[in-house]
Amino acid sequence: MDRNAILVVGSANMDMVVVAEKFPQPGETLFGRQFNMYPGGKGANQAVCAAKLGGETHFIGRMGNDLFRERLVQNMASDGVVMDHLLIDEQEPTGIALITVDGGGENEIIVISGSNMKLSPADVESRRALFNRVGVVLAQLEIPLETVARTAELAAAAGACFILNPAPACKLPVKLLQRVDFLTPNRLELELLAGMSILDDIESVRCAAQRLLDQGVGNVLVTLGERGSLWVTPGEARLFAARRVQAVDTTAAGDAFNGAFAFALSRGETVPQAIHFANRVAAFSVTRMGAQSSMPTAADIEEWV
Ligand code: ADP
Repeated sequence: MDRNAILVVGSANMDMVVVAEKFPQPGETLFGRQFNMYPGGKGANQAVCAAKLGGETHFIGRMGNDLFRERLVQNMASDGVVMDHLLIDEQEPTGIALITVDGGGENEIIVISGSNMKLSPADVESRRALFNRVGVVLAQLEIPLETVARTAELAAAAGACFILNPAPACKLPVKLLQRVDFLTPNRLELELLAGMSILDDIESVRCAAQRLLDQGVGNVLVTLGERGSLWVTPGEARLFAARRVQAVDTTAAGDAFNGAFAFALSRGETVPQAIHFANRVAAFSVTRMGAQSSMPTAADIEEWV
């Protein structure tokens, strides 16, 4: 059986971005400057990343029966994500984020999770056969925690590697942590998960990651922005430096990292090789504007020396 495929279980949103000179006061109406819609959501971004790199990538998520679903599905499919396992919610709308950006670049964001938070353990269960056909399962925390927990169980039962990107962070039950092969927090997420503040040194990051290993996580892979990422296993910590780049937009750097890491593991790369590759893909993504549009193809990465 060829298990080079990747399964992403997660969220998809339509981000609606308004640019205005200033934020309106309560009760005030303003004319803004610009409006754009961008496909987003951590699950969708990570799936698009893996698919654009060339991985056979399947997506399980829930969207509303509305126009945003049509646009999102069209976008993800055109980037190569297999959308056959999507669930449709007749009650809740597709997830959206309303983002206002002022003249100084500050933003205000309201997220309506909508159908994302209706993705249930039973939904994932209904796609169970798929778990036996993939080598890597990747999830985030923009769907209900019990659904993530069921996903972890199904991945374990199918013998697939389970990667959890704990974003946005919340405290996780030990039973779930024990099923995670790779946990990929950024620094702030690690602080929350480990319940301790982290100083600027690597030893402090290692110490926090160790707390999660103590609870049963297999490997902790901490992303450290322009510093790269730290791989922590029981007894060892290894820093993988980031490539120096001119950062243009760091939106979805973490998503690029996770999608690329899952892709590389699914291709049978060793963990150090996969981390190097993920750093590289994520660094590339920060040199471009946008989330899904900033994800490179394999050819982009090869050419980018
Ligand atoms: P998040 O986007 O989730 O906050 P990070 O900021 O830690 O995550 O970034 C994720 C990964 O993206 C990093 O581990 C690194 O590989 C890459 N990265 C982020 N910012 C930069 C940068 N300025 N230069 C190079 N690589 C970067």
